[in-house]
Amino acid sequence: MLVINPATEEILAEIQTDDADLLSKKMQLLRMAQPSWARQTLQHRIGVIAKFRALLEQEIDSLSRVLSIEVGKPIRQSRNEIRGACGRITWLLDHAEQYLSDETMTQNDELTETISYEPLGVIGSISAWNYPYLVGVNVIVPALLAGNCMLYKPSEYATLTGSAIERLLKAAGVPDSVFQLAIGGKTTGELLLDLPLDGYFFTGSYATGKQIQARVAPKMVTCQLELGGKDPLYVADDVADINAVAIATADGAFYNNGQSCCAVERIYVHQAVYDAYIAAFVAEVQSWQLGSPLDETTYLGAMTRKDQIAVLERQVADALAKGATLLYGGTALADRKGYYFAPTVLGNVTQDMAVMREESFGPIIGIMRVANDQEAQRLMADTEYGLTAAVYSSDPDRAQAILRNLDVGTGYWNCCDRVSAALPWSGRKHSGIGATLSHQGLRAFTRPKAWHWKKP
Ligand code: NAD
Repeated sequence: MLVINPATEEILAEIQTDDADLLSKKMQLLRMAQPSWARQTLQHRIGVIAKFRALLEQEIDSLSRVLSIEVGKPIRQSRNEIRGACGRITWLLDHAEQYLSDETMTQNDELTETISYEPLGVIGSISAWNYPYLVGVNVIVPALLAGNCMLYKPSEYATLTGSAIERLLKAAGVPDSVFQLAIGGKTTGELLLDLPLDGYFFTGSYATGKQIQARVAPKMVTCQLELGGKDPLYVADDVADINAVAIATADGAFYNNGQSCCAVERIYVHQAVYDAYIAAFVAEVQSWQLGSPLDETTYLGAMTRKDQIAVLERQVADALAKGATLLYGGTALADRKGYYFAPTVLGNVTQDMAVMREESFGPIIGIMRVANDQEAQRLMADTEYGLTAAVYSSDPDRAQAILRNLDVGTGYWNCCDRVSAALPWSGRKHSGIGATLSHQGLRAFTRPKAWHWKKP
């Protein structure tokens, strides 16, 4: 398998992928070690993960460089990602004892009722490339803290980063027999599905997620899916500073080249502020520097996957054919090597356009004029996905009234494209099943056992 730098199209490495035999051996190694890893004290596992976090902080410069050349992410955003991952680890470590320890629910002279949180066992994780540290930490850290062993398949577009994560975990004291990588792409992922693992945690597209869920179903083990979205954002007519809102929401749409699961994917703007919003939004997009991911001033790097360029081109062509106005960008950059696409802003879009219906996962946004909150809410709800939704308004009641009625895992008032370790990260409908982060995310890697202790 070749690792290609998406910004230069140079080959960075050639890596041997794992075959069925090797994966089976790795699983057996994990299976043998899991009971003794689970028997270690939680304090021991917390100490090991704290060391892992310290190593991430220590090596942030070299790790962010590898991430940038491997996925095309601007270097400043790579450093932000690793810092963000360290922040998440801190929250998980600070709360592990509270949420993974036994809980006494009833206690009297005759009866004690307790819940203990037991690890699932040996679990598989199949991961995405867009935030390999953040998405990795969401599963690896709580899984290991809870006493599981893990077979972790990084995306084939982020294998070097996956290997770096493995190296640092082992340097921190995670035994070789507790964490193993599964190297490769789709075929390796499918081989993981054939193994008798005790749980599957997947981050990726709905198209892949639904196949995985169908394959895993007969095993009757946990199958958690964190999938894509078509996240809507509404700008009401009472916002105090339309310029500031345009700048913040443009960042929500284009940060990491729009390759965020919770990136703003479609924008609805009240007709009273539409023109002012569009002017400020386009001015902001024009101000960004696009270029080498290693340049400190770059805001837009290369797209990670070459095949996504064709998706974006199709969405632009479809929108223009149906009457949208191209306000900025619109094409791949042919004057250079690498998978670059100009940040693209489409105005006067309608709900039937692909750019408003299908996940774009790239630097492109459709902006639509709406008459009032009711129309905004109806259009925001009109999707198969259910990850996040955002409302910008001076009035919390107005935002609540809309967000309460949307079938999404996350609601944002006057913010967007953000994740907090303290809150559950979860999708609904085609955006997934289950939650990571928060107390729910710590317990997602456990099974509760109910203890009824009756005095004789
Ligand atoms: P993808 O579905 O193409 O691949 C994801 C992973 O699945 C990769 O490791 C890949 O090798 C593996 N895979 C592919 N086919 C498989 C199969 N048939 N069986 C088993 N494994 C298989 O997605 P991607 O391009 O890596 O990531 C982008 C998608 O991920 C977007 O839709 C994005 O919204 C979503 N995502 C969601 C979240 C979230 O938290 N909800 C976070 C990050 C990314």
